[in-house]
Amino acid sequence: MPHSHHQRLRRALGALALTVLALAGGGCGRAGSPPVKGPQGSKLPAYRVAKDVSLPGSGTWQAAHRRGHLVVGAKEDQPYMGEKDPASGNYSGFDIEIARMTAASLGFDPRSVRFRTIASANRETALQNGQIDYYVGTYTINDKRKLQVGFAGPYYQAGQGLLVRKDEKAIKGPGDLDGKRVCSAAGSTPAQRISADYPRANLVAYDTYSVCVDNLLTYQVDAVTTDDAILMGYAAKVPDELKLVGKPFSKEPYGIGVPRGDSALRLALDDALAAHEKNGDWKAAYEATLGRSGVPAPQPPAIDRYPAS
Ligand code: GLU
Repeated sequence: MPHSHHQRLRRALGALALTVLALAGGGCGRAGSPPVKGPQGSKLPAYRVAKDVSLPGSGTWQAAHRRGHLVVGAKEDQPYMGEKDPASGNYSGFDIEIARMTAASLGFDPRSVRFRTIASANRETALQNGQIDYYVGTYTINDKRKLQVGFAGPYYQAGQGLLVRKDEKAIKGPGDLDGKRVCSAAGSTPAQRISADYPRANLVAYDTYSVCVDNLLTYQVDAVTTDDAILMGYAAKVPDELKLVGKPFSKEPYGIGVPRGDSALRLALDDALAAHEKNGDWKAAYEATLGRSGVPAPQPPAIDRYPAS
């Protein structure tokens, strides 16, 4: 195919894919496709703002307190988890609710949280240089990352999965990826796992998974790989075009990323998560967001209050 024609086709298909996603996001799927369920704002819990909070041991909390609001890093293109409405600039999703409920426990009005989009590859740097107070965005806790940042939680456990086009027959699991183009986000654990454990797959890495999904819809790649929690959201938006295949092939416990030295903030966030799991907020938030993709609320994983090192 001549290059210019190819590019034109790609652009047209890309625009189509984005239109489909946008339409689906607006709740008006194409005729014949099931209505797509977005997060249900009206069902979201109202989190009680804790009074007289003081965290003298946390430099991060003190700076936020002086500023009057928290700045929280998040994703903006992950349906049901962290999604930004381009018209209003509002963020929604399960991760966003985790950020809001924990903010309330730290004494901040949850509506005052300022979200800042940070891609997978830039999370550690953003926490290290103080761009954000904490990060809630499908962030897997692991020992390597713990050398650079701290983690409260986990508050959810996902697992790596594969998203393919509906007409795909050859890819049923990670063992079928030899010679296939597999797209993931740079700096993510799923991308690292493909390079380490499935070296015969052709890994294509972008900043975000939504670019991968556009590339999948336009036949530039054969599969997208990341956490099932993220892939479920994309599949739900274009159910006629995309499907998840196989079983989860990793464990991805999600944590709240904090600056590494700030154990006071980390432990306060652990307390906050435990309290919201106990009082029903966690489950209600799940059901109004990620649960809309069809999976009932699981038991949250046990929180790991590890000692400072
Ligand atoms: N949970 C994985 C990670 O933290 C994949 C999702 C993401 O990139 O945010 O790397």
